Amino acid sequence: MLLKKKDKISKTYDVIVIGSGLAGLTAANKLAKDGRSVLLLEAHNKLGGFATWFRRNANEGEKHIFDISLHGFPAGMIKTCRRYWNKDIADQIERVDKIRFMNPQFSIDTDFTKEDYINILVEKFNLSRDEVVNFFSELRDMNFYDDKNMTNADLFNKYFPNRNDVVRFLLEPIAYANGSTLEDEAITFGIVFSNFMNKGAYIFRGGTDKLIGMMKDELVSNGVDIKLHTYVDEVVVEEGRVKGVKVGEDFISSSSVISNSSLYNTIFKMVDKDHFSPDFIEKAKKVRVNTSSCQVFMGLKDGEELPDIGELIFYSDSEKFDTDLLLSPKAHSQTFSIYYPSMRPHLPQKYAVVSSMNARYEDWKDLSKEEYEKRKQYLIDNAINTFEKIVPGFKDKVEHVNCSTPLTIEKYTHHHFGSSFGTKFEGLEVSKELSDQIKGFFHSGSVGIIMSGWLGAANYGVIQAHDLNTYLDNVSESVNKNEEVSYV
Ligand SMILES: Cc1cc2nc3c(=O)[nH]c(=O)nc-3n(C[C@H](O)[C@H](O)[C@H](O)COP(=O)(O)OP(=O)(O)OC[C@H]3O[C@@H](n4cnc5c(N)ncnc54)[C@H](O)[C@@H]3O)c2cc1C
Repeated sequence: MLLKKKDKISKTYDVIVIGSGLAGLTAANKLAKDGRSVLLLEAHNKLGGFATWFRRNANEGEKHIFDISLHGFPAGMIKTCRRYWNKDIADQIERVDKIRFMNPQFSIDTDFTKEDYINILVEKFNLSRDEVVNFFSELRDMNFYDDKNMTNADLFNKYFPNRNDVVRFLLEPIAYANGSTLEDEAITFGIVFSNFMNKGAYIFRGGTDKLIGMMKDELVSNGVDIKLHTYVDEVVVEEGRVKGVKVGEDFISSSSVISNSSLYNTIFKMVDKDHFSPDFIEKAKKVRVNTSSCQVFMGLKDGEELPDIGELIFYSDSEKFDTDLLLSPKAHSQTFSIYYPSMRPHLPQKYAVVSSMNARYEDWKDLSKEEYEKRKQYLIDNAINTFEKIVPGFKDKVEHVNCSTPLTIEKYTHHHFGSSFGTKFEGLEVSKELSDQIKGFFHSGSVGIIMSGWLGAANYGVIQAHDLNTYLDNVSESVNKNEEVSYV
């Protein structure tokens, strides 16, 4: 049921889910399907978290509509949606056929499959097939329990020493997808890259608005109560066990909570630190947050078209690839997502182009209003001028522009430091340990790089929902047996 902003909640729930990113949504749906009573509370005025969109007025015709994070995800999302959502959602996931790289080192089109990548590395980068196949085999065999000391730089040096161009081809898409750098643990690259390479990159045909609308219908039909405009201030804990949450002065009772808020906010803002062991707090303090993003949204005039140049272009004018340079406010590198009217076949939609850049929160947080606006204008001009090089005449086709920064992300998602991709690797262990610290308190959402992105977040929602189910089963068994309730 969709609750109204003014509705007071007196019911007790099995689970309260705080936040409706893909992890929160998927966890809520799984728990409801498993027969739990679920309340989903979201601070924003719509569901989805980063899986979101916005509309802007146009001079003529339909409004412009822009997707924030619908650029590409691995094929595994089809299985996750079929199993934990429904067939209709899974059936609207389609492969992106053409991904283009344009930079001073190479210009290449790929369908982003393993076969195509191997052929390109052999034929265009002149590497030996054995070397490339061995590299892909090492990636395929990587798993969570492997050596965490090997960095991406070590991995690339092992197979492709002094080949900055090869590193660019392999790492650039993943750096955009989850903020990966050369210093990150190689297993995070291995797991995410192998996921993508499984079958290429996919998108949801219909747009993020359609996807989230279908998810909302499914949640409601499974009995989830949903309340938007509801920022959860506190998770109430008594004697080491979750009792419910506080929204302002209002208390809502529940046996368990799953927080989809950032790991930092979940640990350091929602609960008094005395409920955690000092060791856990020290470990949590050391978790590094991932970087942030800027985006420029460009909507075309009614009737204006773009040629078919693929759906994703990794563009850079940097001579060499360097993950640090990707973060520069000078924006030498950006990913263009091109949205053709076929993205929303059910709407008479205009063309749109979205430029995404990785960014550092620190570069944006303390600017004066004038400097902030100046920097945004720089990004807008840079995105338009760069795309003009790809499609001459583009400038004259654009009707609407808009720019988001790390501060926009912080404002809409409440994420610490405007992090786009959760935490670095060590965050996963801390997130998983939360429920050992406080009974009935779980975290789910982008952490550890491998649990980030649409697929990673949705799958982590499933994993944590499974653990929460086990917890609730143990609680009810113990109550039935009239025992001291414990969960280890
Ligand atoms: C610019 C950009 C582009 C991206 N592109 C892609 C892509 O192409 N492919 C891909 O796979 N991934 C992409 N991602 C990453 C992907 O979108 C995210 O990893 C994923 O959607 C995050 O889901 P999540 O479950 O972690 O929650 P989030 O999306 O972070 O949502 C958390 C939700 O919790 C709510 N919340 C927080 N605190 C509270 C509170 N106290 N009370 C109530 N509600 C609260 C927030 O309002 C928010 O709705 C992109 C991300 C960005 C920023």
